[in-house]
Amino acid sequence: MALSEFGLIAQFFSDICPAAAAGIEPVLGVGDDCALLALSPGHQLAVSVDTLVNGVHFPPDAPAAQLAWRALAVSISDLAAMGASPLGFTLALTLPAADGDWLREFSRGLRAAAEHYAIPLIGGDTTRGPLSLSLQVHGQLPAGQALCRRGARVGDRVYVSGSLGDSALALRCLIAPTDIPTVALSAPQQTFLLQRYYRPEARLALGEALRAVASAAIDISDGLLADLGHIAKASAVAICVDSEYLPLSPVMTAVCERRRALMMALSGGDDYELAFCVAPERVPAVAALAETLGLPLSCIGEVLAGEGVSCRSGPDNLLPGASGYQHF
Ligand code: ADP
Ligand code: MG
Repeated sequence: MALSEFGLIAQFFSDICPAAAAGIEPVLGVGDDCALLALSPGHQLAVSVDTLVNGVHFPPDAPAAQLAWRALAVSISDLAAMGASPLGFTLALTLPAADGDWLREFSRGLRAAAEHYAIPLIGGDTTRGPLSLSLQVHGQLPAGQALCRRGARVGDRVYVSGSLGDSALALRCLIAPTDIPTVALSAPQQTFLLQRYYRPEARLALGEALRAVASAAIDISDGLLADLGHIAKASAVAICVDSEYLPLSPVMTAVCERRRALMMALSGGDDYELAFCVAPERVPAVAALAETLGLPLSCIGEVLAGEGVSCRSGPDNLLPGASGYQHF
């Protein structure tokens, strides 16, 4: 049976993680001209939008449920990077056709992700055209406490959460194979890499905790060096990364030779880990946080006077140093 615009909104998008279920003060959600959000007293609204275009940001055959999860996680990662807590998101969906099977899977994945992050779908727009998704996320944080890119100070230590480069590796050897020699990957290795690409974990709890600890933060979407470059520029400082301390997953280490692994960790992108700067006196708080969250937080470098991002090689002198790193 053909799906009308309003029929498909009602069927697939009207009831995704209602505010009450998310533990958020009920708002006006899908169905009116605007959604309404309530901010807690003394809080600021944090807003971010991301667009994912078919064939550019995801492969044309991406499974719909996984794509939905990835789209929401990627958007929520921006809230995490500011230290904000989720309030609600909108979805502008452009579809080539009202394909019920695709929509059912997409809606299922979106619901699972929305429930995981406790964020209600509060509205959107549905149009016909080449497949593309725009998700706008809304969050809140205590006024004046946002983790901005501009706060890094000379002497700060630079940290990163989780491991780096896995998503780039997944893309290059599983999703859109290129020039990586295809090593036989075991089933668990493949599962791990596909999860890192399609199910990045937005580091919300870390971001919220870092409001009291970090001087600046960013989520890594374009690659560590490129994203640290944004902090360096906004803060008018230089950042030096020591490649020896980059956190690599066991799968990365097993599959790639070290030089290749470091390149992907430095500039692969799509990690959605947080990179953040911490004044020396707050360093003990980072170790405590890693313990509480059960999440590795690795010190990978330091903030210096100057400008730009540079990479200090390990003892094996594998990578160019000095004035930054060029993509492969
Ligand atoms: P308007 O004409 O006011 O823009 P629409 O007809 O586009 O309203 O949408 C009707 C309602 O459905 C609105 O509340 C809108 O937020 C919601 N909506 C439309 N598309 C989506 C979607 N893909 N996901 C969630 N809500 C949607
Ligand atoms: Mg509309």
